Amino acid sequence: MKKSLFLFLSVICAATVFAQGLKREGGDPKLTEYWSPEPKVVTPGKTSVDAPSDAIVLFNGSNFNNWQTVKGGDIKWKLENGAMVVTGGTGNIRTKEGFGDCQLHVEWRTPAEVKGDGQGRGNSGIFLMGKYELQVLDNYNNKTYVNGQAASIYKQLPPLVNACRPPGEWQTYDVIFTAPRFYEDGTVKSQARITVLHNGILVQRDAVLLGGTQYIGVSNYEKHGDKEPIELQDHGNPTAFRNIWIRPL
Ligand code: MG
Repeated sequence: MKKSLFLFLSVICAATVFAQGLKREGGDPKLTEYWSPEPKVVTPGKTSVDAPSDAIVLFNGSNFNNWQTVKGGDIKWKLENGAMVVTGGTGNIRTKEGFGDCQLHVEWRTPAEVKGDGQGRGNSGIFLMGKYELQVLDNYNNKTYVNGQAASIYKQLPPLVNACRPPGEWQTYDVIFTAPRFYEDGTVKSQARITVLHNGILVQRDAVLLGGTQYIGVSNYEKHGDKEPIELQDHGNPTAFRNIWIRPL
């Protein structure tokens, strides 16, 4: 490459990074959205997975004993017919116990009555270690940026396919998560990895996470403990959860 061309490209790159830095200050969430290619739509088979004998049951439909608010108080979500339902405005909830490497099963249901669109339809999320969001969203005939659709690692990785069931139907996530490792000084020894089956269909295949979920700006890692709570998101929509169990690995 000619020296002058190399110099020119370097200047462009530097300017772009600088501009993004500036935007980040102001906060433009669109900078980290991308909309194509769209994952193929696949119709799932009938799936449901009961907890195996060695699992820790985090929610069996009858109580919130294993959960608390982010601040450690009693949660205000509703218990309805064996499910917990997000009560908008009452905040995220998290497990009292912390987890690192794990196999996690979660069932979720977006409202049968469709309201809103894009990110406003049945939005919730599962934050592994309270930091890495596996998106929960009604993406049955509902377009949004692909790295923010259901089964995406939010703002990082779109799912391999769109395996959503229609709104109002129960859906499953089966997750195999490897926690990130850090050196003493806080630098990353190894990144987090995740495999996800959505309604029994592979949607994330040993995917490498770029860092903690960021709504605005790029993700990066911040050192945290070996075990951190699993958090469920209150995004204002009455999305429901049931049959949540985990096997620490
Ligand atoms: Mg969400």
